[in-house]
Amino acid sequence: MKTLSSLLADARHRLSVLLRSDEAFAEAKFVEHRHYAAIALIIVALTMPTLWLWDLAVDPIHAELTIPYRAYYLLGLPLGAAFLRARYTRHTLITLLVAFLLGSIIVFIEILKQLDNGFIYGMTGFMYGMLISVLAAQCLPVIPGMSFTVVAILLPHLYAAAGLAEHFPHLHYGILMWCGLLLTLVTQYAIADNYLKRHLIEKKLKHASEHDPLSGLGNRRRLKQDLEHASKHGSKLPAKSLLIIDIDHFKAINDRFGHYYGDCAITSLAEILQQIDHPQSSCYRIGGEEFAILSYLTPDDSARMAEQVRLKAAATELQTSKHEVITFTVSIGLASSTLPDEGFDSLFSRADQALYQAKNKGRNQVVIL
Ligand code: GH3
Ligand code: MG
Ligand code: MG
Repeated sequence: MKTLSSLLADARHRLSVLLRSDEAFAEAKFVEHRHYAAIALIIVALTMPTLWLWDLAVDPIHAELTIPYRAYYLLGLPLGAAFLRARYTRHTLITLLVAFLLGSIIVFIEILKQLDNGFIYGMTGFMYGMLISVLAAQCLPVIPGMSFTVVAILLPHLYAAAGLAEHFPHLHYGILMWCGLLLTLVTQYAIADNYLKRHLIEKKLKHASEHDPLSGLGNRRRLKQDLEHASKHGSKLPAKSLLIIDIDHFKAINDRFGHYYGDCAITSLAEILQQIDHPQSSCYRIGGEEFAILSYLTPDDSARMAEQVRLKAAATELQTSKHEVITFTVSIGLASSTLPDEGFDSLFSRADQALYQAKNKGRNQVVIL
């Protein structure tokens, strides 16, 4: 059972992620919620012009004057459609969304200004706008989303204070909207917090599915992804090399010293790979006692790296609790490619073949194919 302090620490962590402008979280939240923004915009685009019938009901004489203002809301249709396509960037869509929604508040005030007693008849329309902000602001990061809601609610006061909306009922509006604002902010926070919980779990699951728990290195799935990602995005580096590193006679270490010391040999080889790691290379544990390095160094430098791994592994000594010394060697297969789109399977199979040869030639050596 979770203790109170771990629950508080968890809540503090989530609050700090929510309040921090974490780009990855903001992007994931946007991707997850963009279709809600689209639905909200399409509903606005269809209902606000239709609500002209309300203008007609409350003031048939002046209702005609509100038609051009009501037409403004049709802009929600193309904007909603843009939210459904992957073509535009998050920043473009959010800028357009904020401009459209703030514009829609001003346009609504202009509609009410045209009608006799429009402010009194139309006051609840502002509440409708607040619902839209709850949905639409979900695709904004948390703080900008909440700030937007505050600004949207403040805007009519400011507009009227600037002398642009005579007879604006500040008190009626304030009673209706400022209490509603608190509920809106809590709702926005609750939705974002729930999404954050899912986002953090997904991040953990993704990390677990791509990493080996014993060494902390990326696993075979991660290696394949990294290689395919580099091929797809046309890595500008001239060559890539794959090194497959396998501990020699590892079974004998397990058999003689036990699995615990077998694991120690695995983690010490992982440490060697991490020490040798270079900004242009990444290392992985792809199987029991098999490791890989994906390198974007020149083929010669990759071969030098392989030799360095081999020498460091051979020089490693592990002490058991009974003061016995465990040593091990590794065999390495290396395949390089200058073809940017040579896929995982082809490069892997060549490096594996090279490793096979290294084993057959007597182990503790590097073979390049
Ligand atoms: P070779 O020189 O031909 O590579 O011989 P080898 O004994 O190293 O090769 P083999 O593939 O036959 O043995 C690998 C062994 O690694 C078999 C398996 O029991 C052991 N192993 C696999 N995963 C782990 C692990 O996580 N920890 C430990 N301690 N052993 C593991
Ligand atoms: Mg082995
Ligand atoms: Mg093996």
